[in-house]
Amino acid sequence: MPSRVNARHGLADAPNGLLTVQELLNTVALRTWDAPDDLLERVESASEWLGEEISEAELGELKALRDSVRELLHGAAAPLSGAVSLQVDEDGHASAGVTPGATPAEALRGRVLAEVLLAQARGDWDRLKLCGFGPCDLAFYDQSKNRSARWCSARCANRVNLPRSRERRAVARES
Ligand SMILES: [Zn+2]
Repeated sequence: MPSRVNARHGLADAPNGLLTVQELLNTVALRTWDAPDDLLERVESASEWLGEEISEAELGELKALRDSVRELLHGAAAPLSGAVSLQVDEDGHASAGVTPGATPAEALRGRVLAEVLLAQARGDWDRLKLCGFGPCDLAFYDQSKNRSARWCSARCANRVNLPRSRERRAVARES
């Protein structure tokens, strides 16, 4: 089933466990157009997204986690720590598990940590990117062969490139 978090932004889901990381980042409100709410703004919407009741304190933890992962993707050295539990099946496929007794926020932190490491091992961590159109900043999965995509959608690419081509035309007229 496609992620509702990504669908409300019109974005495709990242494959494998990276969807967990992408969803967390994309709980943000859309700042550039019709602005659906930030899912981590209120305990109710965050609980609904997680499928588990969380407290006000845990909501704060989730927001901090989202900020850390965003910083990580922006290239900052943002240390992430948490309880990770890995499960490896008969085929040797590793997946991130929830540590028994963890709160929903702790469990998500552990899953995110594990998925980042697994994606790095698989070689597709650098495909998860934040949109290069500043006001957008949504997380998308770069499917391109040479991993060169910079915008989450044609909509954002146009917003970046339109003013530029107008500038170019203006320069051409002046010279
Ligand atoms: Zn975008």
